[in-house]
Amino acid sequence: MNIEQEIKALREALRLHNYNYYVLDNATISDYEFDQKLKQLEQLEADNPQFFDENSPTQRVGGAITKNFNTVTHTHRMYSLDNSYSKEDVLDWEKRLQKILGDVPINYTCELKYDGASINLYYKNGKFEKAVTRGDGFQGDEVTANVKTIKSIPLVLKEEDLQDFEIRGEIVLPLEGFNKMNQERLENGEELYRNPRNTASGSLKLQDSAEVAKRPLDCLLYQIVADQTPFKSHYESLKFAQKTGFKVPNTLKLCKNTAEIFDFIAYWDLHRHDLPYETDGVVIKVNDLHFQEELGYTAKSPRWALAYKFQTEQASTVLHKITYQVGRTGAITPVANLEPVELAGTIVKRASLHNADQIAKLDIREKDTVFVEKGGEIIPKIVGVDLEKRPKESIPTKYISHCPDCHTELIRTEGDAKHYCPNEFGCPTQITGRIQHFISRKAMNIDGIGAETIELFYKDGLIRNYADLYDLTVEQIIPLERMAEKSAENIIKGLELSKEIPFEKVLFALGIRFVGETVAKKLAKHYKNIDHLQQASFEDLINVDEIGERIAQSIIDFFAVPTNVEIVNRLKNKGLQFSVDESKLLHQTDKVAGLVFVVSGVFHKFSRNELKKSIEDNGGKVSSSISKKTNYVVAGDNMGPSKLTKAESLGIPIISESEYLELLK
Ligand code: AMP
Ligand code: ZN
Repeated sequence: MNIEQEIKALREALRLHNYNYYVLDNATISDYEFDQKLKQLEQLEADNPQFFDENSPTQRVGGAITKNFNTVTHTHRMYSLDNSYSKEDVLDWEKRLQKILGDVPINYTCELKYDGASINLYYKNGKFEKAVTRGDGFQGDEVTANVKTIKSIPLVLKEEDLQDFEIRGEIVLPLEGFNKMNQERLENGEELYRNPRNTASGSLKLQDSAEVAKRPLDCLLYQIVADQTPFKSHYESLKFAQKTGFKVPNTLKLCKNTAEIFDFIAYWDLHRHDLPYETDGVVIKVNDLHFQEELGYTAKSPRWALAYKFQTEQASTVLHKITYQVGRTGAITPVANLEPVELAGTIVKRASLHNADQIAKLDIREKDTVFVEKGGEIIPKIVGVDLEKRPKESIPTKYISHCPDCHTELIRTEGDAKHYCPNEFGCPTQITGRIQHFISRKAMNIDGIGAETIELFYKDGLIRNYADLYDLTVEQIIPLERMAEKSAENIIKGLELSKEIPFEKVLFALGIRFVGETVAKKLAKHYKNIDHLQQASFEDLINVDEIGERIAQSIIDFFAVPTNVEIVNRLKNKGLQFSVDESKLLHQTDKVAGLVFVVSGVFHKFSRNELKKSIEDNGGKVSSSISKKTNYVVAGDNMGPSKLTKAESLGIPIISESEYLELLK
């Protein structure tokens, strides 16, 4: 095989794996093997630039920066959809159709209405050409570089008759990925993303496509548009789209009459929460393309399609009081304390109000009756005020100007939606928040101390920062409320043991803004010890893989504060790990690299956490639930019965801990 053929073969193989993994959700090789092949291809392409191809799988990692998005006129206009909310609306629509088409039987397709950002993908000669947002329907923004990073979108089509066309779809952020992104932001003390839809459409307009590549976006397709197509029906065209490599959800259904449409609606109204992404309704389309042509368009939307909107799960209740929380980074979050109300099966007592702008925009006031909604978010949100029920004596909400805790005047920097309490070292909530973060499970994981213990120590004047923890003595702790000798001893023991916690966790525990778990790992691996990190310049920092300007600046700012340096030095003197233990690195192999494990049951040779750590140290991944992507289930005693059936039904090998150890040999 010559080099050109080798490059071609690798591209073909990687394309197929992308398709299996991202479109069919059915991995055929491990992530590790995939990465190896990708690296190999990257090398070959770098050495042989004459074979460059903008649609190579290597071009999906992003890197291109778009400063201004070009405005592009759509070849065919992108219309809106008419909405309907009841069976009557649907029946009326059918009557209108029959008025135009005559009294003929009409077949329909039902699809889910995917809740994301609409996109128009252009293909030419079977290759991805460009992606344009809907914009105003006539013109949109070209976001090709960003969309290219979405792995479920084929860049090169399987060979079929139709090679030049537009295909329309919705870019969505599946809930699992959305929640993960927010979890990370929570840990980094950043403001949370509101909902998957806004985050998906925001992602399309990011300037740095490498940033987009990191987001787990997906693209669900719903219509092929071309001047001439070989298709007779919409259903047929979507089946073609599936065959040629696009992700068209299998929820698509052909319905012979309105009764079948109502069955489809009823089913998904009930089951929509089991879907991996959000949907806000069903789109019903006349299936026959000749009929579609005959029906045509109104000024805004096709006559041949109708959106049926699900009732959103909403409740109305009284907002008693707005309170303000201070985070460990000083960020202020307003919270609505509600009269408890049932919503989508849970009792809701509180809702986030996000920030001052949000309160002002909706003019939310105490004693108002408000509408609460639950979307993909963890915390429900207030979507409106029932003005008719507003009490006469109601007064507009005045956002606090001073910290509810330390009474320092709040600041708000430009471009930041949140107010901050700047009193970093004097604000009790920030102080205890930082120490609570320090001891938390993912950080120093100190046994015997909880969040309340920290508050107790703080109130009694025993600690002012996390370094003070290591000066505590059993004698100091015993006299405190609810402290027995035994628990005091446990605390001291827990602190002693924490001196063995590896550097990367210690670094995370310091609570430097924007330095979450993953970033801490990266920094620890790169700099090996705290001194190197502390001496690193801004330029030096941003050259580290995945460290951006914001993180770099935050690290510089942290070490610029003498108190922080002093605290770090005290921790060093106490014997905490401030460098990577090279001997520990020896245990790290890539023996199970790329494999996904699920761990279940009780083990003898390891604790569960040790087993998980061993898997990760040897390159594997640990997942909490069994899916098609799982490679092995490591089962101990008393493995959960539902996990067992799931693993068996998917044909995933179940191995014992000894068999796992065999894998490492
Ligand atoms: P609206 O914005 O309410 O007028 O609804 C029209 C939008 O629904 C379109 O621009 C599409 O982006 C979106 N949509 C989501 N799912 C579908 C689907 N299955 N078929 C057609 N449009 C859809
Ligand atoms: Zn404060």
